[in-house]
Amino acid sequence: MKIHEYQAREIMARYGLPVGGSDVATTPQEARAIAERVGRTVVVKAQVHVGGRGKAGGIKLAHTPAEAEAAAAAILGMEIKGLTVRKVMVAEAVDIAREFYLGIVMDRAARRVLMMASAEGGVEIETVAREKPEAIIRVAADPLLGLRDYHARQIAFGMGLPGPQALSFVPIATALYRCYVENDATLAEINPLVLTPAGEWRAVDSKILLDDSAISRHPDWPAYRDPDTEAPAEVEARAHDISYVKLDGEIGCMVNGAGLAMSTMDTIKLYGGAPANFLDIGGGARADKVAAALRIILSDPNVKAVLFNIFGGITRCDEVARGVVAALEEVKPTVPMVARLVGTNEVEGRAILAGARMLTATTMAEAAQKVVAVSRGGS
Ligand code: GDP
Ligand code: MN
Repeated sequence: MKIHEYQAREIMARYGLPVGGSDVATTPQEARAIAERVGRTVVVKAQVHVGGRGKAGGIKLAHTPAEAEAAAAAILGMEIKGLTVRKVMVAEAVDIAREFYLGIVMDRAARRVLMMASAEGGVEIETVAREKPEAIIRVAADPLLGLRDYHARQIAFGMGLPGPQALSFVPIATALYRCYVENDATLAEINPLVLTPAGEWRAVDSKILLDDSAISRHPDWPAYRDPDTEAPAEVEARAHDISYVKLDGEIGCMVNGAGLAMSTMDTIKLYGGAPANFLDIGGGARADKVAAALRIILSDPNVKAVLFNIFGGITRCDEVARGVVAALEEVKPTVPMVARLVGTNEVEGRAILAGARMLTATTMAEAAQKVVAVSRGGS
């Protein structure tokens, strides 16, 4: 789950990371009021869930409250990488002498939490990794002891920091590690982490990704969600407790069970098609959920055909078939559809679908071949 910079900054502040004062505004007047409170040069920053805002014009320095108001007026409503800016953060500006990168991720291959740092800060780490991989220092935390001071010193010396800054870097690295672990993050990143001309550390840009699977442990997380930044299909999917991930292909997939959904996508690929989505309606899906799933699939203009692949276990095929028929009446799709129903009450299920204008199939291979054909205008 993505959260905004200002939210990541609040979390990092709780760990003593040097983020400086800031607040968030949705109007130029609010931005001006924050700048007045800060009482010195501020930076006005677009709050959207993408990086590269600086290059896109979404970050402006403002020396007076009036400038902050004008900067906010220019940035609010701006489009950055397809996202409309609805909020800006107004933060105390930082004097920058040097920019560094500091980030933490899970290294799944090594089964360790990995801290990465680079003296080539401000640039996206993927770019550094591609163009100058030797400039990235990587140090894995100990699975039992965590990230200790000696790990942090190893990173500091690896970046060539002079003695005093190498020492003052240590509590920043260990605080970011605690922030990552205690918040069930999948990424905690400061880019750039800055040295001021006075030799002090400042976190200029904060980014945290949260691990959705840990949501039950964090009752405060739903409040981080910003419906403005989410695709409407994803909001609707969550409201109906449907797992949905949009993909780039043409074949919409409605499947019960994550494993079946994955193998359905593989089979479509095998026969030369491309899935438009991953979608798991889950067990015991009723008509209203099936209808919601169909609406979500068809809201994607790329979808040229839909494949229903249902395994009737606890969910009975006839019940799903009734749900599909009700959904078709409600949604009235114009694209061709193929259904494969197997399992409990499959005969009854197919009989119900025979009345609807749908192609049917008995095996996954047959279903995939049929849906690939009809998605290309064949039959
Ligand atoms: P991003 O482009 O979305 O990653 O946004 P950042 O917050 O990382 O800002 C991009 C760049 O803008 C930074 O690398 C800095 O060079 C510059 N910048 C951001 N905040 C400040 C600030 O407070 N003072 C100064 N001088 N530059 C800033
Ligand atoms: Mn950045």
